[in-house]
Amino acid sequence: MKEVILLKNGEIALKGLNRHAFEDRLIKNARRKLMSVGSFHFRKAQSTIYVEPDEEGYDLDEAVDRLQKVFGIAALTRACVIDKDFELIKKTAAEYLKDELENEATFKVEAKRSDKSFPLKSPEICAGVGEYLLEQFPHLEVDVHNPDIVVMVEVRDYAAYVHGSQIKGAGGIPVGTGGKAMLLISGGIDSPVAGYMMAKRGLEISAIHFVSPPYTSERAKQKVIDLAHKMCSYCGRIKMYIVPFTEIQEAIRDQCPEDLFTIIMRRYMMKIACRVARQNECEALVTGESVGQVASQTIQAIACTDEACDMPVLRPVIGMDKDEIVIISRKIDTFETSILPYEDCCTVFTPKHPRTKPQLKFVKFAEDEMNAEELINRAIENIEQLNISNS
Ligand code: ATP
Ligand code: MG
Repeated sequence: MKEVILLKNGEIALKGLNRHAFEDRLIKNARRKLMSVGSFHFRKAQSTIYVEPDEEGYDLDEAVDRLQKVFGIAALTRACVIDKDFELIKKTAAEYLKDELENEATFKVEAKRSDKSFPLKSPEICAGVGEYLLEQFPHLEVDVHNPDIVVMVEVRDYAAYVHGSQIKGAGGIPVGTGGKAMLLISGGIDSPVAGYMMAKRGLEISAIHFVSPPYTSERAKQKVIDLAHKMCSYCGRIKMYIVPFTEIQEAIRDQCPEDLFTIIMRRYMMKIACRVARQNECEALVTGESVGQVASQTIQAIACTDEACDMPVLRPVIGMDKDEIVIISRKIDTFETSILPYEDCCTVFTPKHPRTKPQLKFVKFAEDEMNAEELINRAIENIEQLNISNS
């Protein structure tokens, strides 16, 4: 039996004139995801994208698994492709969905007919297929409101398709249709989730990570690279920038009041992230901050961090509780890596009593003692760049 995968667009359908650009991007992202599974042909029609394998024998379960992580797809399913012959359609429905029909108690048939020359109308297709399935599987009952399985028959221009219930896709809009953003990624739970959430809204994600050797280890850095790897299943390729931060942290320790260490350090992170973002065509920063989680995430501290950069800072988890963030991090498979106990530069030289309501004028006064421009330039000159992908 010849099989294809059908992708149903979600919000893309609402995008009016941009719709083609969204669909093309979705296809490009999906094609890249399937590269290591096989060679596929993509065809758009109505609000469906047909993914047709160029050869038989590809692992379609693996393909579906990968496509389930492509943003812009609301639902998807494997389907059987056949000629538009009603007898054949009925037989195929019984054969192709045999296992499910044998194991479920109730079903209903739905039909879509975009080929208006097909002799039967949709309600007639449903009635005919339903009747045939009841003969073949006498234990089944029809339930039009809440069936265990929906048998779907689509009669299209090229062929007829038969499939069972669809599975849920990743939702959102295709990565890359909303521009680029720079994620400040730490080894924690929150920032990978923040990156995932903004990728879901169509942003292509680059990532910046600050390291402070010898206070932070090679293993801690590798953990963050591993996290970025995991994010790739949803975000696609990620350009990653590793910034040496030791000199700046030591300068802060030597020259600033202890209670302002953290906030000044965070302002340096933002300044550097902003410049690297701009050099690489990113138009916003993304962080995993959540109000009230730690001293540097009070609203007053956030006001001070925001002032250090001049592009929008997106904080998708800002109003979420930790347990809500954890649910997403488990779903995207970053949780187990995030909880590995390696150090982060944020915890180097942490003050005993960080100021929770820092005032910008005192922060700036303290910073004036430092040679910021020179420190920042040197850190940026020594950035290590990595291309992360998992295809
Ligand atoms: P968790 O709270 O679970 O540790 P987290 O590390 O993401 O998660 P914080 O340490 O509170 O949270 O840091 C707040 C945000 O600052 C992070 O979400 C991340 O965006 C950014 N950040 C922290 N440390 C770094 C780092 N070493 N490099 C880049 N960004 C960082
Ligand atoms: Mg952290």
